[in-house]
Amino acid sequence: MNQIQTMTKLDDATRLQRLLAGKVAIVTGSTSGIGLGIARALAEAGANVVLNGLGRADDVQQTREMLHQSTGVTVAFDNANLMNPVETVAMVERTEEMFGRVDILVNNAGIQHVAPIEAFPDSKWDAIIGLNLSAVFHATKAVFTGMKLRKFGRIINVASAHGLVASPFKSAYVAAKHGVVGLTKVTALEGAEVNVTANAICPGYVYTPLVEKQIDDQARTHNIPREQVIRDVLLVNQPNKKFATVEEMGALAVFLASDMAASITGTALPVDGGWTAH
Ligand code: NAD
Repeated sequence: MNQIQTMTKLDDATRLQRLLAGKVAIVTGSTSGIGLGIARALAEAGANVVLNGLGRADDVQQTREMLHQSTGVTVAFDNANLMNPVETVAMVERTEEMFGRVDILVNNAGIQHVAPIEAFPDSKWDAIIGLNLSAVFHATKAVFTGMKLRKFGRIINVASAHGLVASPFKSAYVAAKHGVVGLTKVTALEGAEVNVTANAICPGYVYTPLVEKQIDDQARTHNIPREQVIRDVLLVNQPNKKFATVEEMGALAVFLASDMAASITGTALPVDGGWTAH
């Protein structure tokens, strides 16, 4: 009995925090990592969510059920491969057919490749620009008309600290993420008069399963303890020496998507423990 009362209290508290009740959000690349963290936060804030990304069908189904059961919102999945502009536009059209509109677009899907310029494969350059930058443009273009007509829209681009500063060997990634920051500013200017905002989140290192794998790999390669890998290798540029979390990304996305952030547009917000303060 006590347990049930506690749960009811929690539910009430949660409902009060439902800043995005009834909104419709697409989160690209949300089958794992930051995208999944943002999708979860938006769903917890009451938004219906369309997940997207690569992944095994049964894993995706499990994620959908888990999110739906814990939040009560509708959770759909669209398997568009965002390397293909036609599929990107079709994802937006399918969402509009299903829910009647798109209120929030989170452009998060991204890939990385690390190599010196002279050894950087052309195909990797094209793929990184294609997914990390061009797909952001195509998805934005596809949602923009509807958002402007309805006089509400929130476009949140997951860029990177590498949208603000560079590191060697990441030519395509740094170019794409700087491009995303520029595109975010243009989107903000074009949407400003009709309550369509656009902002870029610029994370430093975020703790995701991919990063966890890198810690073990680097520890083996350099034969040093995990703590040293974290501090001296991965977080060498991150002054607070702490990974950001997907929950932090989610909380910021919820805030940017809410009415409280109506005047925040065209920004590139570092969430990087001080990296870009250098
Ligand atoms: P991740 O690899 O865990 O997730 C990437 C997502 O993109 C997955 O859902 C994947 O299925 C999806 N994806 C890949 N190719 C796709 C395609 N062709 N079409 C559709 N979806 C595709 O990565 P993450 O670490 O969560 O990164 C998410 C975003 O955050 C990326 O844009 C990344 O550049 C950025 N970022 C990450 C970090 C970090 O430390 N993890 C730091 C700064 C910026």
